Amino acid sequence: MTKNTTQERRNELSAIWQFIKLARRLCPGHIPLATVSAIIDAIAPFPGIVIPGYILNELAGPGRTERLLAYIGMLLAGNVAVGFTGSIVRKKLKTSEEKLADRFELHVGRHIMHMDFEKLEDAGILDMKEKALFNLRLHNVLTEGPATIAGIFRLLITAAGVTGLIAMLNPVLIVALFFLTGVNAWLYRRVQATKQRFYQDIAVYNRQFMYFRNLTQDFTNAKDVRIYRMSSYILERISRYYSAADRIFHKMFLTQRRHDGLGAVIIQMQTVLACAFAVWGVFRGKLMIGDFTIYISAAIRFSASATELMTKLVDLQMLGRVLQDYLAFERLPERNLSGKRSADDIVCVRIEFRNVWFRYPNTESYALKDVSLIINSGERLSIAGKNGAGKSTFIKLLCRLYRPEKGCILLNGVDINDFEEAQYSRLLSVLFQDYKIFSFSIRENLAFDRPYEQDRGRNSLKKAGILEKVQSLPLGADTPLYKNFDKDGAELSGGEMQKIAIARILYKDAPLLVLDEPAANLDPYSEYDLYSRFNAMTEGKTTIYISHRLSSCRFCDAIAVFEDGRIVEYGSHEELVCKGGLYARMWQAQAQYYQ
Ligand code: ADP
Repeated sequence: MTKNTTQERRNELSAIWQFIKLARRLCPGHIPLATVSAIIDAIAPFPGIVIPGYILNELAGPGRTERLLAYIGMLLAGNVAVGFTGSIVRKKLKTSEEKLADRFELHVGRHIMHMDFEKLEDAGILDMKEKALFNLRLHNVLTEGPATIAGIFRLLITAAGVTGLIAMLNPVLIVALFFLTGVNAWLYRRVQATKQRFYQDIAVYNRQFMYFRNLTQDFTNAKDVRIYRMSSYILERISRYYSAADRIFHKMFLTQRRHDGLGAVIIQMQTVLACAFAVWGVFRGKLMIGDFTIYISAAIRFSASATELMTKLVDLQMLGRVLQDYLAFERLPERNLSGKRSADDIVCVRIEFRNVWFRYPNTESYALKDVSLIINSGERLSIAGKNGAGKSTFIKLLCRLYRPEKGCILLNGVDINDFEEAQYSRLLSVLFQDYKIFSFSIRENLAFDRPYEQDRGRNSLKKAGILEKVQSLPLGADTPLYKNFDKDGAELSGGEMQKIAIARILYKDAPLLVLDEPAANLDPYSEYDLYSRFNAMTEGKTTIYISHRLSSCRFCDAIAVFEDGRIVEYGSHEELVCKGGLYARMWQAQAQYYQ
């Protein structure tokens, strides 16, 4: 073995060990149960191998009735005991496997939800996740992994027992059987290596395939798919993937068929060899007829166990590789931005961006360039600028979804990354441009897992201008939204959903309010309504407001105008209009349509 392969084996074993530790942590009873099951399965074949031989020897020899009855009793008792306990343990193991798989899904989900947001937008990391989870699920690692390890343990016990039995007949036979088993294992290993290469490659394509498959099945795409007549394009992309996969699968199955054929021939050769040795022993008068059956059964069991053992060892190796991919994904750090500082006593918020530079991962140009800005406590700042100017990026940084490359963001003079994560998010209420309303009840959409306070909920819905609509629904705030889980779920309009999203941020009642295009889906009346309640909604809160409708900037104390990642103008609406710069030009361009 070269140094590299030794290192590879070591890495595989270490990955398997990590996995056992993870399985033990997620489902503590599973490994002991799998071990007990393996021991029972390992000893199960022995009564059937040895006792019938003794019965035959007794029949061919002295023929003592009490001995014969004792052997038959032992055979029955052995089989019943092993069969009974084996079936109980196997049932328990099955339930435990399901428990382990469920807990693992939760474990992976938690890890993904706690990862840095920026990693979720990185194609390299998404491929890594797909490769890790696709292979893990494809090979059923959660159930097959512990079963493979337990299987090896079981087969080692069985193989050691039958090797002892056969060695008593003839040690040369053992060497020959081992040699043939080695050839079989070598063949199997080659097939597995080809398969592994194939699965590695296909995992990356699989992410693209899944994307296209979801386009066909996700109802939210249905309108665009129909209007732009995308179906033939999508189906063509999917069938292109299928034909590529078919070609690779065909090649792989061909190699596998060849191995299976050769493997079967080798197993037959092993049985014939054992028969020849045993017949020779009987002819030389060294074996009785009962011993003959013991050795034949032992040799057949040996071939089966040794071949299975070799294949399981190769499986174990593959398991090690798949687990290495998974563990590399699991090792991706969860959010590392968080400090320990408490924000419990903060009721007023002052924000300062100090010389902030930022560019998205894997991009060259800066989305924010040397941005410096102060938003005083209780102040309402409006952010204006053309598309792509950096407005949403400014908000994402404030939400700690990304970290500035240079410069810092301070909250009441403290770097925002110094706050403990949950404490910091308590200070913020954000309405994102692409806000999400979930298939929960309205109440749960407002409060999530926290207890819902009726009065606070009513007030928030009222301020957001949606209380009447909610009260008109059959279950009021308990009405589920969307119909995917409940046929009586409410399908609200885009504008009404946006008002629910506004109610959510008001319900949270955080000292820092961020609204990114809150009127985007609202009709002119609802927009007017929102503006007229804007002061009441934002009373006493530090507020950041992004809107393309510049008329809304007038409700704010100050306006920062972004262009190409920089703040190019700052002042009140009147000041900026008088200045005659970018803001004034945008204002005039919009105003002429309202005159
Ligand atoms: P705005 O909100 O003003 O329309 P953004 O802040 O969304 O602008 O975008 C600023 C710049 O950053 C744009 O050039 C945009 O293409 C780029 N950008 C935005 N999001 C990403 C991302 N996830 N990855 C790479 N570049 C991005």
